[in-house]
Amino acid sequence: MKNLIDLKGKVTLITGASRGIGKATALLFARAGSDLVINYFRNRKEAEKVASIAKTRDVQVEIYKADVSSKSQCEKMVDFTFKKFGKIDILVNNTGIWKYAPIDKMTVSQLKETLSLNLESIFYLTAKVVPLMKKQGGGNIINISSTAGQRGEAYHSHYAATKGAIISLTKSLSTELASYNIRVNCVAPGWVDTDMSHSSLIGKDRKWILDQIPLKRAAEPEEIAGAILFLASDLATFITGEIINVNGGAVLCG
Ligand code: NAP
Repeated sequence: MKNLIDLKGKVTLITGASRGIGKATALLFARAGSDLVINYFRNRKEAEKVASIAKTRDVQVEIYKADVSSKSQCEKMVDFTFKKFGKIDILVNNTGIWKYAPIDKMTVSQLKETLSLNLESIFYLTAKVVPLMKKQGGGNIINISSTAGQRGEAYHSHYAATKGAIISLTKSLSTELASYNIRVNCVAPGWVDTDMSHSSLIGKDRKWILDQIPLKRAAEPEEIAGAILFLASDLATFITGEIINVNGGAVLCG
């Protein structure tokens, strides 16, 4: 009998999948049967570990080093995926950086780094996969935003601006691509316990952070991966242009 969520025969490219939410997503997608391309940039060893766990699920897995802030590296990664598997069913635009930068101290290079890694990368990858998805009769794109994109975030205005833009990008592309059977959705996590946020979650701001979360804890990466998997699955075939909040109720308090 077919499982309720079954990605057998699907090919998924996940950016930033050596750690954190991307890693949890790769492992969950492997459990659901999807073949995978796991993108990493600096941590090859971690990416190899993710790949070797994923392979125990009897799926094909490749790891691929690419700096997603580079258009040419994004394009080469999509070409690699297509050459290897002959199609790309699902693109998860997950990579992101979150750096402290008060507006009056923010350098141009800090600003550009965040804009290009968090936002331009999604344009590069999406522009490259869309023609392939159109040709193959459909596809599924899932972008990772943040509560910061919904209510803003002090001292991280560049980050929040990219995450807000990801929401409007998702909505724009969902209508632009719907007639090609390409769904475009977004997951907006609140605090998640990963390398990105761990020091804040155990630091002096811990109480302040948890006070704003009705469920009174940060998420585990697997709890974000679940929403991503749902959107990629056949349970969500009529959902496009949607932003799924996975934040313990936090935005309601913001
Ligand atoms: P993380 O633990 O810091 O992991 C970041 C991932 O991105 C790593 O796999 C890293 O790969 C990769 N990466 C970094 N620079 C890259 C580059 N130039 N090219 C390609 N990959 C690169 O982050 P996370 O917490 O899982 O965050 C994942 C997404 O969720 C991000 O978009 C983030 O904004 C969003 N989010 C996170 C939180 C949170 O509280 N953690 C909350 C809301 C939204 P290497 O290590 O191999 O370089």
